[in-house]
Amino acid sequence: MTKYDYLVVGAGLFGAMFAHEAALRGKRVKVIEKRDHLAGNIYTKEEHGIQVHQFGAHIFHTSNKEVWEYVQQFAEFNRYTNSPVANYNGKMYNLPFNMNTFSEMWGVRTPKEALAKINEQRQEMAGKEPQNLEEQAISLIGRDIYEKLIKGYTEKQWGRKATELPAFIIRRLPVRLTYDNNYFNDDYQGIPKGGYTQIVEKMLDHDLIDVETGVDFFDQKDEYLANFPKVVFTGMIDQFFNYQLGELEYRSLHFETETLNEGNYQGNAVVNYTDAETPYTRVIEHKHFEFGKGDEDYTVITREYPADWQRGDEPYYPVNNDQNNTLYQQYRDLAANEAKNVIFGGRLGQYKYYNMDQVLAAALAAVKEEFE
Ligand code: UDP
Repeated sequence: MTKYDYLVVGAGLFGAMFAHEAALRGKRVKVIEKRDHLAGNIYTKEEHGIQVHQFGAHIFHTSNKEVWEYVQQFAEFNRYTNSPVANYNGKMYNLPFNMNTFSEMWGVRTPKEALAKINEQRQEMAGKEPQNLEEQAISLIGRDIYEKLIKGYTEKQWGRKATELPAFIIRRLPVRLTYDNNYFNDDYQGIPKGGYTQIVEKMLDHDLIDVETGVDFFDQKDEYLANFPKVVFTGMIDQFFNYQLGELEYRSLHFETETLNEGNYQGNAVVNYTDAETPYTRVIEHKHFEFGKGDEDYTVITREYPADWQRGDEPYYPVNNDQNNTLYQQYRDLAANEAKNVIFGGRLGQYKYYNMDQVLAAALAAVKEEFE
């Protein structure tokens, strides 16, 4: 084991990028991955000529030019623009909240008419500082849209009342007075042609990097820590410390993937089901992420079911409310005192609701701190 400079635990985006940059600097790196495949939750696999996002829709978007240019080394990106559609009890609405949505919701035609309607609905929150997601949503966009397009989806997704969720989650969504269905405000956006797995494979394809899948760090934690000068850990920070300060909360997901004998099931990559009763939050039709690709007689769809998380389940989302963030900070302090040779990274290691570009930015920052 001692022939290595670094042990990287987890072959997701953070771990792979760190390993790659370390190897470029002449460091010898061992990467261990618990699952039997690389790329963590951005893992994609081809079926019927379609890249299937095995762990939910991943759309790369960023305004960070350095990150965008960086990731181009590992894949060519197409011009996919995310424009999900919401199905609320059978009626379709464009997302994010824009003139198309307002027109569908209220029959308004101009930005002035839409704004008048939104302002009328915002009156309910007049003068109050939003204290939770429900209040934030109503003050942003009013009750009609909150009730039809936000409440049901959000409460399914997070498994709790919108009044018990932090406001910041909803600030991810743009509100626009233009007929523009682009879900993101970022400067750059796309899907890697040929899928995401190649990105991680290329990052890890280096003579100085050895990769082993199907290896669980926790089976030999003490040996690993004793034998490697430095460890990059991208799993759950609370698990790393054997939950000694208490458990952080996570949300999990279940996916139901089906191959259908038809060419085009829903006409869009992402359809959200925003009512409270439908048990899934969205249906993804993978072929629409890459235009013109895939067998024309088949399509692959995935229903995404939110789920409670318990130890042993896959953690997909950190639940960044005040209570969990405070506990996370206590784990950070513990790490600073007791795990000085460990770098914690990624959505789980840093307990942050990161997008892919933010993971890469965090890895770049870790690389700079380590090597410059
Ligand atoms: N959201 C919603 N209605 C939708 C889509 C999203 O209310 O149709 C809210 C919901 O609270 C969700 C948040 O916006 O958790 C962020 O959604 P996003 O699609 O960015 O989440 P992700 O793709 O990371 O799950």
